[in-house]
Amino acid sequence: MSRIEIALFNYLSDNFGILLHDKHTKKTIAIDAGDAACYNKVLDKNGWHLSEIWVTHHHWDHTDGINSLYKRWNCKVIGPANNSTVPIAHLSQGLTEEDSFLFADSPVKILHTPGHTLDMINFYLPSENIFFSGDTLFSLGCGRVFEGDMETMYKSLNKISALPNKTIIYCSHEYTKANGKFALSVETQNKALISRIDEVEEMVAANKPTIPTNLELEKQTNPFLRTSSPLIREKFNLLNSSDIEVFSALRKAKDTF
Ligand SMILES: [Zn+2]
Repeated sequence: MSRIEIALFNYLSDNFGILLHDKHTKKTIAIDAGDAACYNKVLDKNGWHLSEIWVTHHHWDHTDGINSLYKRWNCKVIGPANNSTVPIAHLSQGLTEEDSFLFADSPVKILHTPGHTLDMINFYLPSENIFFSGDTLFSLGCGRVFEGDMETMYKSLNKISALPNKTIIYCSHEYTKANGKFALSVETQNKALISRIDEVEEMVAANKPTIPTNLELEKQTNPFLRTSSPLIREKFNLLNSSDIEVFSALRKAKDTF
């Protein structure tokens, strides 16, 4: 059994907060920190002390709570090394592609996945099969392309796609139900997608989070990882186009869906 315990909770309107707790050393990590009060509530409820904040990217809904958490816990803040258009408060170590370190004796690898923002990094724990995708990959969707271009984002998603299928994915927003509506509109006959949407509707109705998801399921259902699907290509009249062109058509269609 893993010595890492994960607490998943909501903050703001649709953000996911995540805490990782090492049962042996009692070290606790926050993945992003958009709202200090919500993180503190979960830390206090569990009797955990915050040791570090791992930041995925500079957006305010991921960083607004850092200053207050830092003041209370004197925690270490690590996050993107490069390309951040907005500095991250109290950052003591910048991370970049292929950087790695240990947490709970498990390796943590950094993937740089620009596109949503240029600074975006994701945290991957290969021996635990866990991946924290930030705002790059969502369940049944992907992040809006704000700072990079379509090709950059497509390549970042491809990097995630190359991880093992069994990888468990924690993303940073509860968008699954809305993403499912778009996914179904571009691939109406996808049976795996239809059954995933049924499951998601039940989870949402029961007030349960729809994540974690896993890479295998996303490859079967997430249109942004399915640019080779003939149904999707036909929908956009791009049967013989490149994957990047299909991805770009999908992302633009989703932006105005
Ligand atoms: Zn963001």
